[in-house]
Formats: sequence, C-alpha cells, structure tokens
Amino acid sequence: MQAIEGIYSSLTHPKKVVITMHQKPDGDAMGSSLGLYHFLMQLGHTVQVISPTNWASFLNWMPACNLVIDFEKNKEKCERLINEAEWIFCLDFNTLSRTKNMEAVLSAAKAERILIDHHQQPQAEMFAYGISDVSKSSTAEMVYDFIIGSSHGNLINTQVSECIYAGVMTDTGSFRFPSTTANVHKLVTFLKEKGLNHSKVHEAIYDNSTENRLRFIGNVLLNRLQIFYEYNTALIAIPQSDLIKYDIKTGDTEGLVNYPLSIEGIKFAAIIIDRGEERKSSFRSKGEFDVNSFARKYFNGGGHFNAAGGSSTLTLEQNVEHFIEAMKENKEALATYQF
Ligand code: 5GP
Ligand code: MN
Repeated sequence: MQAIEGIYSSLTHPKKVVITMHQKPDGDAMGSSLGLYHFLMQLGHTVQVISPTNWASFLNWMPACNLVIDFEKNKEKCERLINEAEWIFCLDFNTLSRTKNMEAVLSAAKAERILIDHHQQPQAEMFAYGISDVSKSSTAEMVYDFIIGSSHGNLINTQVSECIYAGVMTDTGSFRFPSTTANVHKLVTFLKEKGLNHSKVHEAIYDNSTENRLRFIGNVLLNRLQIFYEYNTALIAIPQSDLIKYDIKTGDTEGLVNYPLSIEGIKFAAIIIDRGEERKSSFRSKGEFDVNSFARKYFNGGGHFNAAGGSSTLTLEQNVEHFIEAMKENKEALATYQF
C-alpha cells in the first residue's frame, strides 16, 4: 500500500469511483463515505456510494444518503459498478471481510483500492494506496485531513461539513473519548467557521428515536444487565424475543453497550445480541483493558483498544458462558484496575 498522497495529483482527473464502508455502517462509516462523496463530486468524478448491508434510519438525514445503494438489495447493479470502477475507496474498515458478502467482488475488482481507516492491523496488501492511522478519532477526521492535505479545503461545503461532523461526533462519543485530540477540535473550528450548524447534526442523530426503542432500553437495563463487581465488568445479553417484542431495527441497539460504563467502578462492558442469524457482540472499556485483543481472542472479532466487536454462531447462552469464562481468565487485568 502506497501513501495516499500518491493520488492527490489525480484527483482533478475525473474517474469512475465507488466508495464503500463496513457492513451495518455506523455514523462514522456513513458520514466519512458521504463526506468524501460530496468532495469528489465537486471535482467532476462519477461517484457511487455502496453499503454492504442496510443501515440505521438515524443516518437517513445525511445529504445524499438517499443515493446510497444497499449491496444486499441490488447485487447485480453493485457488482457492475464495482467491476467498472477505476477507484474504490474503502472507508472505516481494515479487512475486506468487514464488507461481508461484498468481499469476493471487491477483491476481484480491477480498480485501485484506496484505504482510509483507523482500525488496527489493516490488510495492507489489498490496497494500492491508503492511510491507516489508529491514533485518529474517526475515519471522518481522516477524510477531512485528506481533503485539506490535497489542498482542496475550499471544497468543504455544508454537505461535506455535516457528514464529516456526524462521523467525528459519533466515533468520539460526542467529543468525550480520549481520541478527541486538539486536531479534532481544530477540525470543528474549521467547520464552524464555514457555517456548520452542529446542533442540527446532534438532533438528527440523537433525537430521532421511537417510543419502542426507549421502552426497549428500559427493559434491557432492568432485566438483561448483569454486574460482576469483583471483575469491574458488566454484561448485557439480549434474546431475539426482545428484538421482536419491541420491533427493534438496525441501529436501535447502538450505544447500549456504553450504559453500564456509567456505573462507578465498571471498566469493561459487553453486550451480546441474538440477531437470529448470528450472535453479535460489542465490547467497550475505560482505560487499560484492551478489548481489541479480547474480541480477537474470544469472539472472532476485533476493533480498537477501547471499542471492539465480534460475532458467533453459538447460542446466546453458550456465548454468555463463554464470556464469563473469558472474563475470569482476565481477572488479573480486570480486578487490579486503577482509576
Ligand atoms: P461496534 O461494537 O460498535 O459494532 O464496533 C466497535 C468497533 O469494533 C468498530 O470499530 C468495529 O469496526 C469493530 N468491530 C465490530 N464488530 C466486529 C467484528 O465482528 N469483527 C471485527 N474485526 N471488528 C468488529
Ligand atoms: Mn470509525
């Protein structure tokens, strides 16, 4: 993988471009992809954003989100676009397998694949150009750096701004995680000076819930949360019947894993959700406990030091047992935590 600066001089030569992201895109995956979309469109490229799967409805407000194609619903069209593309930007994921059913067509594509991502251990050999930087708060921040670095900062208009801000805001937990560097605040200053309406973005993302979702969260906190004080750990296990009862849709469970971290002393929180076809897990930690390694070792997953996920084909009950065993194996790291 060559440095991404290598494509700066080609940016002004219009190409057929596909932008894609990880499956079940979050605010950062969708925000960074659409921010890049609005930038490249102004340079005259023909650009299509493809999501490997569906996404949460709280992302639909983003400018041009209505033009994003869901690979699972439009396989033939997406395969044609990917095969015809000259550049394929891969945003907010480190390995092609994070695009689920798109992996095969992406790896066979003739196009130059270009990576912009902040996850550990990227599959560098699969990309012609790229940048991978785990110190970055979000892929959206990296898209901003890319635009500024290419000396096209003047193209950061309202659409680019809103998408980038949404990605940075969601991946930094609204600017509270340690990844929120001075550069992140400088980025916000730049976007504000360009006229960004930041409260519009916060409301569009966080105040767009349903009554069902709020009652579902109430049920989860009351009935599905276990605390293991001697391990400074909390676990939420959600059966599929809850998802059906409360009509839970993609994205409705996002952020739930963070709730237990608000309990004094809890430094490690996990959620395991029975989605029917798989059991999806998310892990979050505060401070020194490395959930990326934990997810890789025990849950066939990965992510970042303080935020990771995984998946499993075992039952929910088996996953819970497996989690408790894994937690016990890590007692030393978990129990000796210093605040
Ligand atoms: P979340 O818990 O919000 O789904 O994901 C947290 C972080 O872990 C994200 O950065 C995401 O990319 C990563 N992640 C989530 N699930 C998986 C997985 O199944 N495999 C891998 N390698 N990473 C994951
Ligand atoms: Mn991200």
